[in-house]
Amino acid sequence: MGLVEQVFDAGVIGAGGAGFPTHKKLVTGAKLLVINAAECEPLLASDRYVMREFPREIVSGIKKIAQATGVPRVVIGTKRHYAREIAALREAIGTDAIEIFELDSFYPAGDEQTLIFEITGETVPPGGIPIQIGIIVVNVTTALNVERASQGIPVTRRFVTVTGEVANPQILDVPVGTTAADLIQGAGGAAVPRYAVVRGGPMMGKQFQQQAAETLGYNKADGGLIVLPHDHPLIDFCSKPIDWILAQTRSICIQCSMCTEMCPRYLIGHQMRPHRVMRSVGTDTHPVDLTDALLCCECGICELYACPMGLSPRRMNIYVKGMLRAEGAKVTDQTVHLGHTESRPYRKIAQSRLIERLKLGAYPTHIDECRTFEPPKVIIPMRHGVGKQSTPRVAVGVQVQVGDVIGGVDFADAGCLVHASIAGKVTEVTPDYVRIERN
Ligand code: SF4
Ligand code: SF4
Repeated sequence: MGLVEQVFDAGVIGAGGAGFPTHKKLVTGAKLLVINAAECEPLLASDRYVMREFPREIVSGIKKIAQATGVPRVVIGTKRHYAREIAALREAIGTDAIEIFELDSFYPAGDEQTLIFEITGETVPPGGIPIQIGIIVVNVTTALNVERASQGIPVTRRFVTVTGEVANPQILDVPVGTTAADLIQGAGGAAVPRYAVVRGGPMMGKQFQQQAAETLGYNKADGGLIVLPHDHPLIDFCSKPIDWILAQTRSICIQCSMCTEMCPRYLIGHQMRPHRVMRSVGTDTHPVDLTDALLCCECGICELYACPMGLSPRRMNIYVKGMLRAEGAKVTDQTVHLGHTESRPYRKIAQSRLIERLKLGAYPTHIDECRTFEPPKVIIPMRHGVGKQSTPRVAVGVQVQVGDVIGGVDFADAGCLVHASIAGKVTEVTPDYVRIERN
């Protein structure tokens, strides 16, 4: 069996957040393999832990990917200040032809298109994907999972940074499907009586109220859980209803264009101009081509950092994108505007400033400690990232062992197999998840 089939059988998807199925990325003919080791969401430390603890497995996985795809050059993109992680990787690399590219500590260094621009100076065409310019991007934890896949080990566990208002902020090594509530228990419990959670990082993660944590099962792409007081400004800001955002856009957008000036996609040469989307939505007198919104990667810089008026260009883009996609709109102009990139060196946002702006300065900026945590049950989602949703392949009452396939897609699909992450009894099956309770 080849690596691509092994990766599919093991259910490997991008572990960095988007969750694109990895077997679909392993194509021949690329000129460069970029390993994304630039975890950039504030407060998250799962990838750094993986780099320190599993450098040999990561390098072995990288070499297998390079061999399977025939790619002639490999670069690991990571942050310059990750000294221990870089040392561990260099030792594991030895004399192998794998380069390490050291980045400044800025957000969003880990955005794959930003990372490609940093390393190569090339821009992925607007609306395109890296392979269009001959580049494959694989997250560093994904490389570890590829190595394990080559040994027949499926993805059943996940490293999750659990931080914020918990008694012991730490990284937890947990089965896929562990709920947010159990993750909080694993980190010593919530430190505030009423809280909300962010699944993922503070910039791109999704907010949930406390009651949702009980049933919020973590998927293979979820690397962070941030617990915040229920009335924390970040929760408050991101919970605003779209009607409120529309009304605010119409009344107070001053068209300063700071959202565009700071937009990382604009700064690599895309025609992503959120201020024009805001103008068009805010007034009928300046209608513009709203397809700019289709280029938004939802990084959050425009609304959580750039806008002086506290507006939400990202939410507006998501809203507009939804409407455009329903109409079947697609990006047709893939022109790259290199003039946008000239000011890019001065527009990188330091992590430390971002943390202060998000009012997260009370929480640890880095976590070293990791421990294994075994929850009493798991709720394993059938959707793991942007790929096709899997279909459950078990019934209620069935006993499963770790690694049994409980859901899946066909090999030709851009989706993944889903495996039982604990041994136990299946107690609930829906199109969206499978619940397993430990024996
Ligand atoms: S930064 Fe804010 S006020 Fe300025 S154009 Fe963008 S949305 Fe409008
Ligand atoms: S969220 Fe805002 S800053 Fe980020 S890509 Fe979209 S428009 Fe640009």
